[in-house]
Amino acid sequence: MTIRTLIEDFANKLSSLMEGQALDRARNAVESALGVGARRRGRPPKAASAAIAVIGRKKRKKGPKQLCPVPGCKNPAAPVFGMVCSKHKDLPKAQIKKYREARRAKKLKAK
Ligand SMILES: [Zn+2]
Repeated sequence: MTIRTLIEDFANKLSSLMEGQALDRARNAVESALGVGARRRGRPPKAASAAIAVIGRKKRKKGPKQLCPVPGCKNPAAPVFGMVCSKHKDLPKAQIKKYREARRAKKLKAK
């Protein structure tokens, strides 16, 4: 046996050892992320809740910006004004409702 083969043998052993460790670590990360294999019950591990938070944030993505229902108005509607724009926030609610219904009817027809 030469020194070269000895070193190669050692390197192979080391790399397989590290691979095994990496695999173990990867599996642990996945398990803890999924909350599977966790020995503790109750609250999910931090990784899992973080993942859930990310997924939840994605799901909660807001749709297209809502516009003020007043015809011809291109301003974005704001919830603080009752989903009309700041310019039309003083319009009577009944009027806004009519505009809203008209807009909805138009949208449905367009489909
Ligand atoms: Zn408006």
